[in-house]
Amino acid sequence: ERRADATPAGVKQKVINHPCYSNDAHHKYARMHLPVAPACNIQCNYCNRKYDCANESRPGVVSELLTPKQALLKAQAVAKAIPQLSVIGIAGPGDPLANPVRTMETLALIRAAMPDIKLCISTNGLTLVDHVDELLKLGVDHVTVTINTLDEVIAAQIYKWIYFEGRRYEGVEAGRILIQRQMEGIAALAKEGILTKVNSVMIPGINDGHLPELSRELRRNKVFLHNIMPLISKPEHGTFFGLVGQREPLTTELDEVRELAGGNVSQMKHCQQCRADAVGMLEEDRSAEFSIEDINPEP
Ligand code: SF4
Ligand code: SF4
Repeated sequence: ERRADATPAGVKQKVINHPCYSNDAHHKYARMHLPVAPACNIQCNYCNRKYDCANESRPGVVSELLTPKQALLKAQAVAKAIPQLSVIGIAGPGDPLANPVRTMETLALIRAAMPDIKLCISTNGLTLVDHVDELLKLGVDHVTVTINTLDEVIAAQIYKWIYFEGRRYEGVEAGRILIQRQMEGIAALAKEGILTKVNSVMIPGINDGHLPELSRELRRNKVFLHNIMPLISKPEHGTFFGLVGQREPLTTELDEVRELAGGNVSQMKHCQQCRADAVGMLEEDRSAEFSIEDINPEP
């Protein structure tokens, strides 16, 4: 976690009550995710499409999809019940920016109704650069981008395909486009002063050795926080799209890579890989208490 004395004052203000960006804040403030974004524009080999986006969430979880209006009602109900609520994010169940109309409408409704709340989104980054202006206008000042590699050959093992500008790409070509777009996206965020966290899913034998090098590039691009997440591949979480039989990293391997990468970018170690409809403090999940049927029986 980041040392407070190394953080400039403007940035401190942005992270002070954000439970994910500040280790100190995560015992004091609550977050909620609004599951309004069902579609995805890429296929990660570690994703099972029946479940929430594995770039932010633990596998094996299915969140209840909401319309933007239902999302607003739920956010208002949660804010009333949990006064420590400081952050509302959109993290799935697919990729928020592959559903730009639903995502932007939700962010705009929340921004209008709850002007003081922090807004954030997570994305695979494929279309991020096209949306940075709009995110800025809506006051989204925290964005998480999942970047697993900067090497197109490694990328070809991690992604089955991407769908970009009306075409499907596979293999090294898909990797090249995705990486280029991700880097353009984080550069645009840095230019606008939007705080950026990068998630990387650590996949032993595929991208583990590359992650320290990746973190050097993230540093150059002013990424604030790097969250190296262990691949979770237990059979009870369902079959992956690809990567059949892929093992998870050992805790010692994860610690070692985080240590190496931590020399470049501060590491987030308290991420809970929350579901796309998570509610409450990071360590708890109160989503079941706020089912939309109870809040708004007539959608
Ligand atoms: Fe699944 Fe990857 Fe799309 Fe997330 S970005 S929903 S993990 S395919
Ligand atoms: Fe924060 Fe991680 Fe949960 Fe996202 S998944 S809300 S970064 S703890």
